[in-house]
Amino acid sequence: MSALPAQDVEALQGQLNAYMERKGLRSTNQRRLVSEVFFRADGHLSIDEMLALVREQDAKVGYATVYRTMKLLVECGLANERQFDDTVTRFEVAHADSHHDHLICLECKRIIEFEDEEIERLQARAAERHGFKLVSHKLELYGQCAECRGQK
Ligand SMILES: [Zn+2]
Ligand SMILES: [Zn+2]
Repeated sequence: MSALPAQDVEALQGQLNAYMERKGLRSTNQRRLVSEVFFRADGHLSIDEMLALVREQDAKVGYATVYRTMKLLVECGLANERQFDDTVTRFEVAHADSHHDHLICLECKRIIEFEDEEIERLQARAAERHGFKLVSHKLELYGQCAECRGQK
């Protein structure tokens, strides 16, 4: 799992604060902690995983606070909700002007991100051929990762 540089975390935090101000929402310390942990981890985290990370720093934070903060982040466009092969909803940071797709290992559940210009172009072309105005897409490839296949 990657970690986001501090200045990026701060920029995202600033966007969240601006959104909350516009909506007249109060920024609590717990909410701030949840969003900061989420931005910094920059992974594909479930609510339970988020809760565990947050509780390393503040044991008093409850499930509902994490849940509501994640919903807020989705609402303001700073997080994307993802559901891969399991029924667990995962959240990832929605980086402006960047896009990636996912390779999901069915054995160790590892999620690998990739970007491929050629695939992007082919998808755009397929949409165009059908007179379809493309808004967004999700590409998920399932299988076994190199480690699970015993390769390094
Ligand atoms: Zn694997
Ligand atoms: Zn991702």
